[in-house]
Amino acid sequence: MASEKEAALAAASAPADSPTIFDKIINKEIPANIVFEDEQVLAFRDINPQAPTHIIIIPKVKDGLTGLSQAEERHYEILGRLLHTAKLVAKQEGLDDGFRIVINDGPKGCQSVYHIHVHLLGGRQMNWPAG
Ligand code: 5GP
Repeated sequence: MASEKEAALAAASAPADSPTIFDKIINKEIPANIVFEDEQVLAFRDINPQAPTHIIIIPKVKDGLTGLSQAEERHYEILGRLLHTAKLVAKQEGLDDGFRIVINDGPKGCQSVYHIHVHLLGGRQMNWPAG
């Protein structure tokens, strides 16, 4: 099995706007444990959870946002919506004592799926600094 770093490097070499596994989740071509959905965003449980609660929040339309490093002014609304959805889902999941938001970007950020996403992690004590 490829290491996290190898997977991140392989994913980073794909063409910028090529479809990812998240498109298949959006289109319901593959199953996911969806916890929140509206017209703009989708939130589902991570297949490889790093905490008791680990949810991925994505925009349904990528609009060039392969990662945060691609963000432009036109993305302000969706970026705010992703964070606000994270807060709503944290409440829904009962993460009242705190949670962590992570956005991995690029190979050195260990990003493996090039469709911008927010990780919501909770249900255990987090450590700092992150690895
Ligand atoms: P990244 O490493 O890009 O920040 O995060 C991608 C995340 O997507 C990883 O935590 C990985 O476990 C998750 N993931 C990858 N493929 C799937 C999938 O098919 N289903 C679900 N639910 N999560 C996935």
